[in-house]
Amino acid sequence: MQHLEEGQCGLCLHFGEDHAGEHQLVQIRQAHEAPEDLIDDCGHPRHASLNLKVTPISGCDGFESAAEAQA
Ligand code: SF4
Repeated sequence: MQHLEEGQCGLCLHFGEDHAGEHQLVQIRQAHEAPEDLIDDCGHPRHASLNLKVTPISGCDGFESAAEAQA
């Protein structure tokens, strides 16, 4: 497992956005930890048409906190 910091894909609203309620994603956001080999879609409007795949420790300036979106 890899520890996640704010700003990384695993804690971003757009990581796996089309299946955001999935148990594994909820767990990742709660624990701030994710498997090293996980890859998922980035749903950011500027990336979605490119089918960008990212790992939980990737990141970009389009980061939006999933935690803040839920609050
Ligand atoms: S690439 Fe950027 S927008 Fe997409 S999930 Fe990662 S941080 Fe979020």
